[in-house]
Amino acid sequence: MTQAQHLARIDHRIRPKIAAILKDLEGHGWQPRIASSYRSRAEQKALKDAGRSTVSFSFHNHTYKGVPAALAADIIDRRYGWSIPQGHQFWRHLGSSAKAHGLTWGGDWKRFPDVAHVEIRGVTLAQAKRETV
Ligand SMILES: [Zn+2]
Repeated sequence: MTQAQHLARIDHRIRPKIAAILKDLEGHGWQPRIASSYRSRAEQKALKDAGRSTVSFSFHNHTYKGVPAALAADIIDRRYGWSIPQGHQFWRHLGSSAKAHGLTWGGDWKRFPDVAHVEIRGVTLAQAKRETV
C-alpha cells in the first residue's frame, strides 16, 4: 500500500498531524513510512492471537460511516523497520513529534510499549468502537 493510500485510510481528525510528523522526521534525516493505518477486525484478531496486540478492538480498526478511518498509525523508518531497539533515536524523535502534534505515543506505555504507534488523544476506545459499529 502506498503512503497516499495509508493516509486516505486515516481519520481526518489526525491525518494532518500524521503528515506533519512525517515531515518533522524527514527534517531530522529519517525516512519515515506509515507501515500500518486501518486494519480489519480479522487482522486485529490475528495480531492479538499472535500476542502482538493486547486488544481485540484498536484505534486502527476505526471506521466512519463504514469507511476505513484509522485513529492510529504505525510509523517506521523504511531502512530499519522494527529491527532497531526501543531506545533508538528514531523512536524518540517519533515520540516527541507525535506529542508535539497532540497525539499519544505508544512508546510511553509501561505495560506494552509500542514504539511505532501513534494515536488520537481525547477519544476513548469505547467511543471509537461505537462510531465503528
Ligand atoms: Zn499501532
